[in-house]
Amino acid sequence: MARVLITGGAGFLGSHLCDKFIAAGDDVICMDNFITGSPDNIAHLFGNRKFKFIEHDVTEYIYVDGDLDYILHFASPASPIDYLKLPIQTLKVGSLGTHKTLGLAKAKNARFLIASTSEVYGDPLEHPQQENYWGNVNPVGFRGVYDEAKRFAEAMTMAYHRYHNVDTRIVRIFNTYGPRMRLEDGRAIPNFINQSLRNQPVTVYGNGTQTRSVCYVDDLVEGIYRLLLSEEVMPVNIGNPDEITMLELANEIIELTGSKSQIDFMELPSDDPKVRKPDTTRAKELLNWSAKVDRKQGLKNTIEDFRKRLHL
Ligand code: NAD
Ligand code: UDP
Repeated sequence: MARVLITGGAGFLGSHLCDKFIAAGDDVICMDNFITGSPDNIAHLFGNRKFKFIEHDVTEYIYVDGDLDYILHFASPASPIDYLKLPIQTLKVGSLGTHKTLGLAKAKNARFLIASTSEVYGDPLEHPQQENYWGNVNPVGFRGVYDEAKRFAEAMTMAYHRYHNVDTRIVRIFNTYGPRMRLEDGRAIPNFINQSLRNQPVTVYGNGTQTRSVCYVDDLVEGIYRLLLSEEVMPVNIGNPDEITMLELANEIIELTGSKSQIDFMELPSDDPKVRKPDTTRAKELLNWSAKVDRKQGLKNTIEDFRKRLHL
């Protein structure tokens, strides 16, 4: 039985991670300031004696009572519309927040896992992306606040590992979706589902030929869990290599929801990566992990969750 701190635990991924550790019989401390998360995501855990919530901004000094075995640093705006609205907070939580949580890991002798991202590869010039690719990021572009914060977070994690012997893990998460994503989150899948269920125009940015490879949340959580329990210090991609264009994805969601929506082509945001697909060889070899949930099934589960929350 372990004692685990999850920052950003009231967010989309963080709340599913809280569920995973609670189900494993561990004690979970969830820390969040609700900047993009919601108490609704963890409401079912309140009252569970193995679950504790602390409302706190992790860019400020963090105090946690007692021992900790694991710290998972997931606090950060993650949707482009969030981090464009919250550029300074995004830079602070990736830099100062990572520093504070690493300091806590050192003090508690806890294993530390940082939620990094496929955005460290930027608009990639190599495809699919392997962990040894250094990326193509515009540091002064609008997305730079997120990409560079995460690149800094990885560098800080390796520095604490090398100079303070903190036991660290780095997961590079590729686009993940599932139940509990905010209805107005702004990322492609929640937008397309929300718009389709309301029979409103589905907003495809650019001509929709840009690709992403989307992973269902249960697969991602399993991959992160295995990485945490492994001995691998260098970054590991976790994602589903099933690549699709945004136009195909929009049409697939329109079909799955039985919607009357039409596609509305809109301006492509600057620095929007043209392609993205994980090479998951390392995850397979090191963790014996690969994504299992087929996209249609994952989308159906997510659509069901959105229908309930929209009272449709
Ligand atoms: P989310 O916005 O749903 O969750 C982020 C959580 O962090 C929210 O609950 C928010 O309130 C909290 N938070 C932000 N700043 C904070 C601060 N200073 N102090 C305390 N809490 C703070 O996003 P998500 O999709 O669940 O992403 C979670 C993590 O995973 C992020 O670090 C993100 O960069 C990473 N990630 C996610 C994806 C994805 O596809 N979902 C892909 C790559 C990386
Ligand atoms: N996108 C889109 N319509 C939307 C929201 C997003 O066409 O309503 C596009 C976006 O331009 C990008 C892709 O979908 O090319 C994935 O965007 P998302 O915000 O989900 O994630 P990210 O760009 O961070 O991979």
